[in-house]
Amino acid sequence: MGVLDLRLGYEKNRFPITKFGNDKNVMKIEVLTTGDELMSGLTQDGNFQWAGENLTSLGFDVAYHTTVGDDLLILKSAFNTAKSRADAVIVTGGLGPTPDDLTIEAASDFFNVGLELSQASLDMMAERFRKINREVSETNMKQVYLPQGCKVLLNKWGTAPGFSYEIENTIFFFLPGVPKEFRAMMEEYIIPELKKRNPQMKKSCMRLVKTFGLPESEVAQKLEGVEREHVKLGYRAHSREIHLRVSTFADSSSEAQLLMDEFLTDIHALLGQYVFTTEGKMLEEVVGELLKQNNMTLATAESCTGGLLSHRITNIPGSTSYFLEGVVSYSNEAKVKILGVPMELIEAHGAVSAPVVEAMAKGVRHLSGSDLGIGISGVAGPGGGTIEKPVGIVYIGLDSKTKGTLSRKFQFHGTREEIKLVSVLKALDMIRQSLLNNV
Ligand code: ATP
Repeated sequence: MGVLDLRLGYEKNRFPITKFGNDKNVMKIEVLTTGDELMSGLTQDGNFQWAGENLTSLGFDVAYHTTVGDDLLILKSAFNTAKSRADAVIVTGGLGPTPDDLTIEAASDFFNVGLELSQASLDMMAERFRKINREVSETNMKQVYLPQGCKVLLNKWGTAPGFSYEIENTIFFFLPGVPKEFRAMMEEYIIPELKKRNPQMKKSCMRLVKTFGLPESEVAQKLEGVEREHVKLGYRAHSREIHLRVSTFADSSSEAQLLMDEFLTDIHALLGQYVFTTEGKMLEEVVGELLKQNNMTLATAESCTGGLLSHRITNIPGSTSYFLEGVVSYSNEAKVKILGVPMELIEAHGAVSAPVVEAMAKGVRHLSGSDLGIGISGVAGPGGGTIEKPVGIVYIGLDSKTKGTLSRKFQFHGTREEIKLVSVLKALDMIRQSLLNNV
């Protein structure tokens, strides 16, 4: 049974929910992010973004989002407001050892309990510190004194433990602000606990589909009419990719999975080669997997992207098995000296041209002995453009041991950094398409 909230005029825990496939009541959640750096705009509230996206995709009702600074009175007032209107409150930040980390103090004041040592958290912290030859200082001890009667949420990903505390039908969860720790603890403790507390909620299945090569409007156009009952589809443009957050809802997990499989089959049929993952992977990760599956190796020759392509490729653990070499051949001399591009070719066509990127791709492939070589040359701007070769013009060449050489010309727009980024994504996509035998 819910508690009648006179101020708001409805009963907590008892309200109609019709969105996202939930035909039964689910609890109202408030996400309370804390920290002066959020209030001053210095840090973007990525924790809320993650929580909002993931919780709503799972069918939870994120009803309120509040952000407050590091101020004891304001924190307690925010707890009070949250308690009056939400069934579950997720608080992030302020669990650290510094004087501006006030969440534990505010919580113990608000719940009107003292602090007690969490021995398990202290042991964990001491073990963590021992590995890096550090002692637990008095300042750090502040983090392991938690409100009496709370349930401790051990932090396997950092030093500050989290905790939960239930008061008058509202469960408060306190998590560290560091995004990696926040996300891991949400997945490990909070989401399973919220699911347990909402047994009437439909079972859900969630997938992140990523596309590259089409603007959002065209993706939406191609997907017109695909939406159906018990499936929620959300769009997000992210670094020149379009991401689709798909959630399916059913009475059982296997039915939700079946619904997902059917929906993804339709997405593939409508978007085809533009979909590069249905599992939230990065483009360079997908390319790496394809190279491994095909037992092939890659080398890169970059001019305008200055090594960004090899950086992205080598961000993937295990890339050593397929990435042989990356050359940043920025000057014409480097293109000639390292890659063996004929100077006459550069003089005849310019460094930013199809013949030159093809020669760069061939050059680096021969130099490294790889199966695939890629060459990139362009005008990233803001200066250096001409009428013939304006800022944003980029050529990408791909040389394959078995399929020969090809190149493509692109006209990109944006800042220098954006042009570098999109060039790298196009290059990765060209490799992917080649490995899928689409080009
Ligand atoms: P720690 O013990 O590691 O300090 P904490 O709980 O005290 O953990 P905060 O000090 O509040 O966490 O935040 C640590 C860092 O995490 C901040 O400097 C900020 O970079 C990041 N951070 C905090 N809150 C958020 C948020 N809502 N979204 C994104 N990043 C955040």
